[in-house]
Amino acid sequence: MVFEIRELLEGYDKEKLSIATICSHSSLQIFNGARKEGFRTIGIAKEENVKFYDAFPLGKPDEFMIVDDYKDIPKLAEELREKNAIIIPHGSFVEYLGAKKFLDLKVPIFGNRKVLLWESDRELERKWLEGAGLDMPKQIGDPKDIDRPVIVKYHGAKGGKGFFIAKTYEEFEKLVDWSKPFTIQEFVMGTRYYLHYFYSPIREDGYKLSKGSLQLLSMDRRDETTIDELQRIGSISELEEIGIHPTFVVTGNIPIVIRESLLPEVFRMGERIVEKSIELFGGVIGPFCLETVVTEDLKFKVFEISARIVAGTNPYISGSPYSDLIQPDLSTGRRIAQEIKYAQKHDLLEEILS
Ligand code: ATP
Repeated sequence: MVFEIRELLEGYDKEKLSIATICSHSSLQIFNGARKEGFRTIGIAKEENVKFYDAFPLGKPDEFMIVDDYKDIPKLAEELREKNAIIIPHGSFVEYLGAKKFLDLKVPIFGNRKVLLWESDRELERKWLEGAGLDMPKQIGDPKDIDRPVIVKYHGAKGGKGFFIAKTYEEFEKLVDWSKPFTIQEFVMGTRYYLHYFYSPIREDGYKLSKGSLQLLSMDRRDETTIDELQRIGSISELEEIGIHPTFVVTGNIPIVIRESLLPEVFRMGERIVEKSIELFGGVIGPFCLETVVTEDLKFKVFEISARIVAGTNPYISGSPYSDLIQPDLSTGRRIAQEIKYAQKHDLLEEILS
């Protein structure tokens, strides 16, 4: 990053901010939330995706900016700045644009860009999460040491693509692609909860932190093919015998709530993540998600963090059982728009943009 957010905002008419994102992932929710807070919206889209938005008038952006390839978004930077645009990054935004272009994009981005460096490198991510006192699945350095069920994750493989389970070195050896770097993690037995938080460094109401406050807006469970429905045709071991292995490709998201007695721990974990992030890189600002497994002794193991709006928030465009207790009709997309509106009103935009 070779610029300061102050410089980027210099030419902005702060009374006429607009909200922009790539038309994918959680864009319907982001546009809908922005619209509810009175912002103009811009969808960056490929021509073939534009018609689809006619199906959802309340999730459609006010305006489209068309690209042939999302890697060309930097070419739109000047025009986006002229439109006083703030970009809301979502999982696919970074994925489509690429990390380097994302970090260098000369348009104000909601949240702290630096967080990308910490979440995309598995070593740094572990330093952050374990440094915050969270319990992560054990990592196995040498495949020969596999002494329990493990999940093998290829680096940079998004949405669980290519991951596999092994229970022994022999199984591992049969399935591994040595040409790609990978991490071997203990496969944690339990139930999965993907917790959707929102950290505001500028609001002091609600669950307070050393600076700002933390909200829990919703939670989901991912629906992953083929693992989540394998039991319909047999056990994993029966299938493995005939050479069929489960995969972990995300196809959708299922709404869920957690037993209420676990909520205080949900907040303690979120709090420690934020406090540690402030210490390490100035803070994870806005939405983030802890991907967890709750074990049978009711302990959380956190296997991943996503430091922006996750698609698991999409079931809650009209609010969730948690956000309903903060304000009716509050989605994560709308909460982002509210944060920008509040910062605009109190001249705090530099605190939440980068
Ligand atoms: P994304 O970046 O989209 O979150 P990813 O490709 O980094 O995904 P993970 O989220 O780490 O992948 O893992 C994909 C899926 O594999 C998880 O949603 C979960 O179902 C399963 N999984 C991952 N790690 C573990 C683990 N240690 N124990 C049990 N299941 C796991």
